Amino acid sequence: MMKKMGRKKLTLQKAVEHLIRDETINELAADCHRIASKHGFHKKLSLVPSAYRTPICLALIHSEVSEVLEKWRDDKPIDKELADIIIRVFDLSKALNIDIGKAVVRKMLVNERRKRLHGRKRM
Ligand SMILES: [Mg+2]
Repeated sequence: MMKKMGRKKLTLQKAVEHLIRDETINELAADCHRIASKHGFHKKLSLVPSAYRTPICLALIHSEVSEVLEKWRDDKPIDKELADIIIRVFDLSKALNIDIGKAVVRKMLVNERRKRLHGRKRM
């Protein structure tokens, strides 16, 4: 069971404050992209037709999610595998020129305003 968060509701003003500070996220995304490039992952990806690159990156993000699940099932720490998910998402967002910092804050604001469970009965 997820622990109930004790933080205050995300307001528009707080979201704007996040947006001002979100360069940290974008800097991390740029570094993830730079490190992946340095280690040859983008060169390898450039060998496949461009139409397949994003789906391959998404499949690799999915593989990291599966790695988290396997670690969890083995009752092992999941922190590094969770980090791998974020690293791959950041790398892809930079490759696609997505301002991930802004996107995260904007989506959090949308989520904050949604109805409880968004009308669904489970999860
Ligand atoms: Mg991994």
